[in-house]
Amino acid sequence: MFCNCVFCKKIREAGPYEFRTRTQVLIDDKICLDFPPEAYVHSLVYGINYSSLEYLLVTHSHMDHFYAHDFILRGYKYAAVAAKTLNIYGNEEVRKVFSECTAREMKPEVTPNLKFTHVKAFSEFFVGDYRVLAVPARHGTAEEALLYYVEKDKKGYLHMHDTGRLGDDVFLYLAQNGARAGAVSLDCTFLDGDGGENARHMGLNDDEAMRAKLREFGIADDNTRFILTHFSHNSNPLRERTERLAARHGMTAAYDGFETDF
Ligand SMILES: [Zn+2]
Ligand SMILES: [Zn+2]
Ligand SMILES: [Zn+2]
Repeated sequence: MFCNCVFCKKIREAGPYEFRTRTQVLIDDKICLDFPPEAYVHSLVYGINYSSLEYLLVTHSHMDHFYAHDFILRGYKYAAVAAKTLNIYGNEEVRKVFSECTAREMKPEVTPNLKFTHVKAFSEFFVGDYRVLAVPARHGTAEEALLYYVEKDKKGYLHMHDTGRLGDDVFLYLAQNGARAGAVSLDCTFLDGDGGENARHMGLNDDEAMRAKLREFGIADDNTRFILTHFSHNSNPLRERTERLAARHGMTAAYDGFETDF
């Protein structure tokens, strides 16, 4: 929003078709992955009422993935009917950010309907009817950023951003714990630029390498959908371009409001 680069200018001129809000995933209207500042916009545009949401899996504490200020709105004068308990799962840094961001305005009567569970990498837990595996992302050393595999009725979704290329230990853990992904969403921050071995995000070549690994370990097969998201302004992410480049690799570029069944 503060950027004057040629791509941001183009996107502003093109209008809403090209707008990309920050990343959030909703599974079966029951489980949310990440809660960006635009969670409110998503509720307006896509008709989502978060008062019935019970489970939120948070990947890491960066503000584009966890905008905790909004949780003060879950009661008091801001929500007419007290919301169901929201179970937030995340690492220690996410819990700290939650405390810091809500410290000023949180009303005591709102706190009891929020429950925080500390998640560690390489762990399995259950949320309602869903099985979840948490694995470590490659996303810097300041905190243990997490990725999640969410499964119900033997159908799994693997959430792979924000992250750079993952090591075999992660694929081995997923495979040994029976992960079989019908859909994978991949970090594609750099689009046709490469992240390489040690980056904290990925581009198409990295995504292709990760797809090969997922297939090699039996976590994905020929029917698995690979969906690209988390594009950066620096990589000229106009929709026609992201969709064309993704298709060239047999993948799908996501856009705001993107839905998939599998
Ligand atoms: Zn820009
Ligand atoms: Zn991040
Ligand atoms: Zn991010």
